[in-house]
Amino acid sequence: MRVLIVEDEHRLAEALGQVLVRNNYSVDLSFDGNDGLYQALTGIYDVVILDIMLPGLDGLSVLQQMRQEHINTPVILLTAKGDIEDRVRGLDSGADDYLAKPFQASELLARLRALARRKGEVQVQGILAFGDLELNPHTLELWVGANSCQLTLKESQLLEILIKNPGHAISTTTILMKVWGYDTTAEDNHVHVYVSFLRKKLAQMDSKAKIKTMRGLGYLLVLDPERPASPALVAQASDQSMPPGSVLEMPWLQPTAQPTQNQEPPQC
Ligand code: CA
Repeated sequence: MRVLIVEDEHRLAEALGQVLVRNNYSVDLSFDGNDGLYQALTGIYDVVILDIMLPGLDGLSVLQQMRQEHINTPVILLTAKGDIEDRVRGLDSGADDYLAKPFQASELLARLRALARRKGEVQVQGILAFGDLELNPHTLELWVGANSCQLTLKESQLLEILIKNPGHAISTTTILMKVWGYDTTAEDNHVHVYVSFLRKKLAQMDSKAKIKTMRGLGYLLVLDPERPASPALVAQASDQSMPPGSVLEMPWLQPTAQPTQNQEPPQC
């Protein structure tokens, strides 16, 4: 998840940024309203944390211009304690939530998780799911059934974008901006490499999900209905028509035909 913090108090902005980065969010900082609006209008953010009192352009004007430009990124407003008028104007202008200063970082993290739940993107405990995949974007753990795999931060962020956009091909440019940032010097090839890393891990975990390349459009996460049955199922089906002992003549079937209690998950 990529978060933009627009806050002119540098120490507060940087402290918030560090907390979010420690929780595996990607963070960009902006210290004035005009720059904040410019960055928010890129549309690459999952959430914008927006202070109201800003130099250049105030937070409510930033919010109003975002909505006028049809940027529907969820916005959490930072308001002065007790300033009910600002909160009402903020919510009326299209803010999704607000936090009154001073606040604890844990409260901000809870608000971010609540926003994601409201958007219907996560199940319990902050888990994103697609087919047989379950991704925890905060611990970077990927599960397929009982098998788990530790992803790198960029692999997790890339998979998160694909899971959150079912049925939509996501362009290499969008992935570059959302994972590497809008001012990145990374190139398309970086995306292709990380897609190949993820494809290997999905295959190692025997997931039904796969990343399809849509020529000229980008990448799409799909469930593979054509995937052949696993060797274990082939072995069970074959057992019924073959004389006893035949399976032993096909050594490649044995590891899955005779699973053990302590079978190791695939290496990731
Ligand atoms: Ca301020």
